[in-house]
Amino acid sequence: MDMNTIAVIGSGTMGNGIAHTFAQYGYQVNLIDINDEALDRALTTIGKNLDRQVAKAVLTEEQKAETLARLTRFTSIHDGVADVDLVVEAASENLELKLKIFREVAASAKASTILASNTSSISITQIAAATGRADKVIGMHFMNPVPVMKLVEIIRGYSTSDETTKAVMELSEKLGKVPVEVNDYPGFVANRILMPMINEAIYTLYEGVAGVNEIDTVMKLGMAHPMGPLQLADFIGLDVCLAILRVMQSGFGSAKYAPCPLLVNMVMAGKTGVKSGQGFYKY
Ligand code: NAD
Repeated sequence: MDMNTIAVIGSGTMGNGIAHTFAQYGYQVNLIDINDEALDRALTTIGKNLDRQVAKAVLTEEQKAETLARLTRFTSIHDGVADVDLVVEAASENLELKLKIFREVAASAKASTILASNTSSISITQIAAATGRADKVIGMHFMNPVPVMKLVEIIRGYSTSDETTKAVMELSEKLGKVPVEVNDYPGFVANRILMPMINEAIYTLYEGVAGVNEIDTVMKLGMAHPMGPLQLADFIGLDVCLAILRVMQSGFGSAKYAPCPLLVNMVMAGKTGVKSGQGFYKY
């Protein structure tokens, strides 16, 4: 299946990285967000990240200009998805919002268009059920920062077809990524394993077993993790970690995934990590 034109919905942390990567690899990209301010921010970020790639000799100035020229901005989902081969949704992690977006996309995109979500934890099967084309809906879970990280977790919903899965696996490889196919259960694989570790690190802090630096140092030096779990949580966003834990807690009906009260308190206090300037560390 030939895919040349891609719409990316949501131009935040993940959306701008996804748009950047597709454009860098030669795809025409329609980048969609709710207003011009969000799109201005995204294009500034993409420009800076491309400059970094030029400075590291990953790209030439000419390739940077070609990449930027492949990006077209939209504030209307209807207009942005009308004529594309693939839609990748990377809007905020909220079930109602994603269902609303996917209903609108299904009503506006061609019947042949594949619809992917970059969700960290929301059920692909539930999203697919809102589209009337469940066989063409799939999870494409990129990692942050998208232009750098090799993994794409490809999530097959209950009704995702073999044809859709094959097309998206092949496309991911064309982006220089390593796609890994997994089934649709809460947290998929990446967050199913990562979030309980982060939650346990927060419990370890909460119970006074050790301080922030001590916990992260044990995991970095002892387990060869490039970043400690508390620092990683700050980078992901504590609000995002909390949302994912709650999806797993309710999806499995298990107290095993109940978020640590300290995490809940920090999110309520607005200490959401890097993006707020304060989490387990100050930024
Ligand atoms: P973000 O808050 O940085 O960006 C979300 C963007 O979506 C914002 O620009 C917002 O304006 C836009 N948006 C909201 N409603 C919209 C609508 N109706 N139409 C178009 N745009 C809309 O969030 P993020 O961290 O980029 O996360 C996006 C998705 O990626 C989430 O599903 C998240 O779970 C997932 N994800 C995040 C990470 C991460 O490390 N941050 C990693 C993997 C996956």
